Amino acid sequence: MMSLRLPSIDGLLRHPACLPLAERHGRESLLAGLRQLLDELRSAVLSGQLSAVEISPEVLAGRVGERLARQQCSNVRRVFNLTGTVLHTNLGRALLPDEAIEAVHMAARYPLNLEFDLASGKRGDRDDLIEGLIRELTGAEAVTVVNNNAAAVLLTLNSLGARKEGIISRGELIEIGGAFRIPDIMARAGVRLHEVGTTNRTHARDYEAAISPRSGLIMRVHASNYSIEGFTARVPTAELAELAHRHGLPLLEDLGSGSLLDLTRWGLPAEPTVRQALLDGADIVTFSGDKLLGGPQAGLIVGRKELIAKIKKNPLKRALRVDKLTLAALEAVLGLYRDPDRLAERLPSLRLLTRPQADIFAQASRLQPALADVLGETWNVSAVHALGMIGSGSQPVARLPSAALCLRPQVSKRLRGRCLLTLEAALRALPIPVLGRIDDDALWLDLRQLDDEPAWLAQLPHLQVDS
Ligand SMILES: *Cc1c(COP(=O)(O)O)cnc(C)c1O
Repeated sequence: MMSLRLPSIDGLLRHPACLPLAERHGRESLLAGLRQLLDELRSAVLSGQLSAVEISPEVLAGRVGERLARQQCSNVRRVFNLTGTVLHTNLGRALLPDEAIEAVHMAARYPLNLEFDLASGKRGDRDDLIEGLIRELTGAEAVTVVNNNAAAVLLTLNSLGARKEGIISRGELIEIGGAFRIPDIMARAGVRLHEVGTTNRTHARDYEAAISPRSGLIMRVHASNYSIEGFTARVPTAELAELAHRHGLPLLEDLGSGSLLDLTRWGLPAEPTVRQALLDGADIVTFSGDKLLGGPQAGLIVGRKELIAKIKKNPLKRALRVDKLTLAALEAVLGLYRDPDRLAERLPSLRLLTRPQADIFAQASRLQPALADVLGETWNVSAVHALGMIGSGSQPVARLPSAALCLRPQVSKRLRGRCLLTLEAALRALPIPVLGRIDDDALWLDLRQLDDEPAWLAQLPHLQVDS
């Protein structure tokens, strides 16, 4: 038997089956793709495992074409977040309003006055671009912005408390997702942790007893993704601020999500506002740009002028600063807050958080037949009431009344788990992946965030569930 030989690279490059690939992906990519494929096939050909057809130029071109097409498809993909968690950290948190998208577009396309004062013609400071708005919206004396709230906490602690003790309640030594732990951040910031009180109860006298010449600051952290209930005690910010100031110490408050407005006006659970924390006497307040604020990823540090000046002088500020796209988006988002009456229409995160349950349920009922049709006999599809979450550590125990499509496999209990995982994977494999959540032997698609119904429906025929 005559052994087969792989076609030559040169021959393949000239072959009509490969010409369109060179056109589409470029000669270099095609060449690299062909080389890699031939290398992979060489030993199989030598040992006679492949047929002549399998190594024909047409088949090889097809295989390389598929690979090149896959490489071209970008890794950053749009998805449908039907998890029920609105500000989902793993899915990019807040969605930007059109005003911010336009501002980002402008900032990306043209030169801009990022650090240039147009009035004087001199060098400017990028924080100045949003300082006026932040002062107006929070009552703060000054502001500085960094890459995210974790950076804001790190920078503030390092600037105000390095080589000194930071006093904090044991109930606030929290871990937030993604390995952000207050004790670790404190250590990295060079602040010696001085924990006081207990997990559930900390009193003013606990803080007071900890104060010494070694103290540098008192810190308060929003419990974010957990809640302490029952027999608890926490010193109100106003009282803690008074105590700190009596001893000449600054009080830092890490609000985490931090809201600029009282959310109860939209029927949402109360979150502490930045303005209130400052009014209560916190000297510095830190919060995220992409949590309840509804803007781009950023960390805002607001508060007393002389402390902000100190923070801005820290060389770490330069390492943690925000880029022009973020600032452009942030300014546009903050601008919307000047008109609270229209905020819920214009800011996507607030619009989604305040979507009425009846509206979401009507949508679930409308979509139910189409999904039931695609899934067939194996699945029971029903429109049901469901409970969602704000996410990103805001109000971990509060639930948002929502509605969902609930998909239950009509198979024996033994097979249910695998069936659910298969459907979950099939939904993830759609052109725009659909992400839901599995709970109580069912797959739930919470529709609070389903804005683009036509795009969602259009891809349903691509759903492949072979059970
Ligand atoms: C979310 C959160 C952070 C971290 O903020 P990022 O913007 O995610 O870096 C810090 N502190 C608290 C209390 C938080 O809730």
